[in-house]
Order: sequence, then C-alpha cells, then structure tokens
Amino acid sequence: MKAEIIAVGTELLLGQIVNTNAQYLSQGLAELGIDVYFQTVVGDNEARVMEAFRLASTRADLVICTGGIGPTQDDLTKDVLGKFVGRELEMHEASMTKITEMFASRGIHMVESNKRQALMLAGSDPLLNENGLAVGNCLTNGDTHYVVLPGPPREMKPMFANHAVPWLRGVMGDVVPLQSRMLKFTGIGESALEDRLIDLIEQQTDPTIAPYAKEGEVAIRLTTRAWTQEDANVKFHSVEAEIRNRLSDHLYADQNITLEEAVLALLEQQNKTFTAAESCSGGLLGEMVTAIPGSSKTFKGGVICYTNELKHKLVGVPMNLLEGSDAPGAVSAEVAESLAAGMKAVTGSDFAISITGVAGPSESEGKPVGLVYVGIADDQGGVQSVKLKLIGNRDGIRLRAVKSAMYQLWKRLANK
Ligand code: ATP
Repeated sequence: MKAEIIAVGTELLLGQIVNTNAQYLSQGLAELGIDVYFQTVVGDNEARVMEAFRLASTRADLVICTGGIGPTQDDLTKDVLGKFVGRELEMHEASMTKITEMFASRGIHMVESNKRQALMLAGSDPLLNENGLAVGNCLTNGDTHYVVLPGPPREMKPMFANHAVPWLRGVMGDVVPLQSRMLKFTGIGESALEDRLIDLIEQQTDPTIAPYAKEGEVAIRLTTRAWTQEDANVKFHSVEAEIRNRLSDHLYADQNITLEEAVLALLEQQNKTFTAAESCSGGLLGEMVTAIPGSSKTFKGGVICYTNELKHKLVGVPMNLLEGSDAPGAVSAEVAESLAAGMKAVTGSDFAISITGVAGPSESEGKPVGLVYVGIADDQGGVQSVKLKLIGNRDGIRLRAVKSAMYQLWKRLANK
C-alpha cells in the first residue's frame, strides 16, 4: 500500500508552525508497513485542497490528511473531500451530542458553526476525538482509502493511534510491517563511514542499509519487513556482522542511544566517575550529560573556566602556560592537558576531560576558528590531548567539540 500525507493549513506554508503531524504519521505508517511516497502541504484554499486530493488519488492507495476540520469557514477539508468523492456531509449524532453537552456544561452559548465539527461524509466511518470536538472520518472510495484527522497534534495522535490504525489494519489485510535496527558510530564522519561500506550499500536489497548523520553523530539504519523484531534481527544478522567487522573501532551502540548515554553506561559498569573542565563549550558537555537521568552516579560535575583567570584559579593551570610572549596560550595542547590533570586532581574523579578552542565566528589569540584541543586525564595517571580542526558555525563547533571529547572518553572505556 502506498500512502500520501496531506497537511492542510496556511500556517504551515507561512512557516508559522512545523509539520510535525507528517513526521508522526510517517513513523506510524512505517510501523504498519505502509510506504509513504509523498508528503504534501497545502493552504486553506478550496481549489488547491481539491487539486491536492486529485493528485494524491492518482498516486496513492491511502490518502491521510490532517487539519482543517475545525468550526471556522477556513476549515474546509471535509467539504472539499465530499465534493471530490461526490458524497454529502451528514451529521454524526454522537459527536453532535458531545458538542452540545460540552457547551451546556460550561454555560457557553454554542454558535451554529460549532456544529460543523460533527459533520462526516456519507458512508464514512467516524474516528472519535478523545481530546477535542471535531470528529474524524475514514472511507474507501473506488480504489483509494481516505483518512481525515484534526490538525492539533494532541487530538490527531490519539485519533490516529486508537481509531485510524485499527481501521487501516482492517482494510490492509496482511501487510508485513517494516522493522529496523540502528547502529550508532562515533569518531567517524558520514562520508568516511559510507566509503567503508560502499560495496554493501550499493548491493543492498533486503535489508536496506541507510547511513545518516545528525547532531555530531553518524548512524546506520538497517530495515526489512518482518512480523517481529526477532525475525528481523535474523535477517539483519549477516550484514550487521560485516558492518561490525569493518567498523568495530567506531561502533558504540546497536540501539538508538546517544554517545553520552553509551559513555555513562560504560562508566557505571566499570564503577568510574568523570568530571569536565569546559572553556569554549561553555558547559554544553555538562548540560548534555546531566540531561540523562541518573547521570550523577558517574558525572561528578564540571567547571566552565572560560577566562584565563578561572583556568588558573579554579583548575590550577599555570599562568605561564596561558599568558606571556612564550606561552602556548589558552588554546593549546599544554593547556588542555593541564586543565584535565588539574580537574582530576581537584575533584578526585577517575577521568577528567577538558575542552579548549576557538568556536568563532572570529579567530582568537591568532588561532583559527574551529581549532579545538580536548584533554583527557585517565584512571591510570596518563594525560593526553587531541588536536581537532572542526568546521561549522559556533553552535556546530561547540557540539562537535563535546562529541569529540565524549569519543575520547568512550575509546578509553571501551578499549578501542
Ligand atoms: P481546530 O479545531 O483547532 O481549527 P483543525 O483540525 O481545523 O483544528 P487546524 O485549524 O488546521 O486544525 O490547525 C489547528 C492547530 O493545529 C494549528 O494552529 C497548529 O497548532 C496545529 N497543527 C495543524 N496542522 C499541523 C501539522 N501539520 N503539524 C503540527 N501541528 C499542526
């Protein structure tokens, strides 16, 4: 079954709201094994909504639309679909009763237009709205199935999950659902990763292999059709083994977790703690780590030592490393190592990491934007640093600096 999602709403076209409904529905349809081939966005305009239905019905077996089923005159999705499939609108009595009772219980006068929310297409099935008043609809017309849902996500999601999905299962028969498995990598870029798997990617049929990059991390999604995840895992086995074989130095998880979560899990298993001295990342590492519940078991805390003064006063970096004509300066291997060693000494943590660099947009101390040093003091008494040349804007460089620092810690914990 091929599906098209139509999101109706001028606000979407104006960029005032993001089309999160399409994302939610695409995920839900994928779980049902329904392929979404198109996502359309159309404004509250009768002729253009009609055109969207016409086009969708030529290329999809299932058309799911959201939005435009409220009480006002610009809520015209049901009217237009009715005209398109040649069906009248009729009152859904149970919804009408619910609307009338709601207004009566609140002592609010009900205007005529509120009744529009109880309308449904003749010969369609109602989809109950657990969090709102407008009733949804589903119907089959010729070869095409139509599902009409409200725009507000808090109404749309339960209507889809609790009412539209059972209806879809009924009309679909036995379609095997899609199952996937995520492999997550660190310390390698998307193109380098793809390059090492290019022959597998080019030969892929079933399972499919899709690499993608997001927020400083790279992942591979394996996908196949199977009734259960266990059956799918059997189909994934040989290709996954080959990927693991080629990229074992970078694979940090076989599930959809962040690098920070993986690092915290390893620290917990090994009963170790860590701390961080952050300069150019300004506390971002601490924020990302403490966003994970239970992080206090392994993350003792950190300092934001942004100025030379605080690098010296709080973490004990010697001033002659920071200032003076012969000093390596704040952005240097020496200072990164001194920060990490100082942090470990001050806090007594097993590991300490430091991040110092130039996040931009302008260079600093004559050092270029994107130059970052990550220092790490380990549980064996060793102190090292890594020099990075990161690209991107200020936010991107800070994020990549934190991910690189976490990668250094992961390498030591995972013995890579
Ligand atoms: P209402 O009864 O509120 O008029 P409706 O079903 O007619 O509901 P719309 O008027 O199209 O829906 O949208 C109402 C609100 O729902 C929007 O202001 C927006 O906040 C949210 N919304 C609509 N469409 C989407 C979408 N595609 N993705 C995310 N949110 C949406």
